Amino acid sequence: MAKHIVVLGAGYGGLMSALEARKKLTVDDARITLVNKHSYHQLVTQLHETAVGARSDRASRVLIEKVVNGKDIDVLKGTVARIIPDERTVELVDGQRLVYDYLVVALGSEAEYFGIEGMKENAFIMKTINQARLIRVHIQSCFARYAYDRRPELLRFVVGGAGFSGIELVGELADALPRLAAETGVDYSQVEIYNVEAMPSILPGFDPELVQAAQESLQSRGVRFRTGVAVAKVEPGLVHLKDGSVIETETMIWTGGVRGSQLVVDAGFETEPRGRAKVDAYLQSVNIPNTYLVGDCAFVLGDNGRPLPPTAQLAWQMGAAAGQGLYHDIKGGVKEAFKPVMMGTLASLGRKDCVGKVGRSTKLHGRMAYLVKEAGNWRYLAKIGSVFH
Ligand code: NAD
Repeated sequence: MAKHIVVLGAGYGGLMSALEARKKLTVDDARITLVNKHSYHQLVTQLHETAVGARSDRASRVLIEKVVNGKDIDVLKGTVARIIPDERTVELVDGQRLVYDYLVVALGSEAEYFGIEGMKENAFIMKTINQARLIRVHIQSCFARYAYDRRPELLRFVVGGAGFSGIELVGELADALPRLAAETGVDYSQVEIYNVEAMPSILPGFDPELVQAAQESLQSRGVRFRTGVAVAKVEPGLVHLKDGSVIETETMIWTGGVRGSQLVVDAGFETEPRGRAKVDAYLQSVNIPNTYLVGDCAFVLGDNGRPLPPTAQLAWQMGAAAGQGLYHDIKGGVKEAFKPVMMGTLASLGRKDCVGKVGRSTKLHGRMAYLVKEAGNWRYLAKIGSVFH
């Protein structure tokens, strides 16, 4: 009898595992159900563009039906409420229950607030299209309100965290806000963009030469960096830093870190402190059988013994590996251990600039780096068969 594979989440990891499993397994081998909160797959690597209006909401998503069309994958729009491993069951918020033989958990990550007082309540985050939409509408409203209410905090924008997410976002802000100022008749010299980073430098741990290039590029477009000082507390209208200084602002956007989905912790998967589930060499849970974890909710160590970063490129590689693992679970044969391929890391700095590394050690900076990054986005869309979405 056909086995039932249930895949939770149609992000980069989940979508790819369903597609790969279906490529290898016939409908007589397995029925595949892909559960996702929305009817679309979100291109979350591009949300910094969506958040400033440089990319439309429509261009930030791909309809799942379009990707799985004709592939015998059942798409179920629903929100996972809990995973009950002992009963091999997933319960959805609407009460539906799905019984599985094999499960792929690809539920992504959540914002990590580190217990910072008021952060969750008073800061925007940028993990979904809807959240990016909220940021965009809010920024537009700040400019519109400034015409009637000349409070400087309306034109002061603060991004907390200068990791890749924070840097890509300030790059977009630096490009988009002059345009918005011109449209709304605001003198751009009144606009302030702050990026606050707890570590001594932006993009901590990244290549120093590229960090320097990124900093200079962004500073030349007016971004003000506050490095070596943590955000300590956020109140409506106020961002308190650890050194006692306070920034008055109507806009605090938090990109200070991520953690695995709480559903994974609650289900009893063995996790590390940031909520990511520990997996074996095949990406299967170390304590719950017949379950793969892929993407941001999996804790995988790289060759250097350090955890792999929660990136889209690794999520889809893990998804493909889980799909192949499922094939061997059902049809037999020898499973291969997951081998990540680090293709490179590129951080865009707005529309025309970018810094990053490709291959083993090639450093890129400027327009060329930006085009390489764009090519990576297109390659991904081609892979899921949705270049024209
Ligand atoms: P991150 O954890 O990489 O960076 C968060 C930053 O916030 C860190 O530099 C940290 O020091 C800082 N921070 C934490 N607490 C703070 C505080 N209280 N005050 C000020 N700063 C504070 O998170 P991210 O940037 O969201 O990235 C998550 C993962 O996704 C990373 O692995 C990243 O490489 C990846 N990513 C990659 C790309 C890309 O490849 N273009 C883009 C975005 C994210």
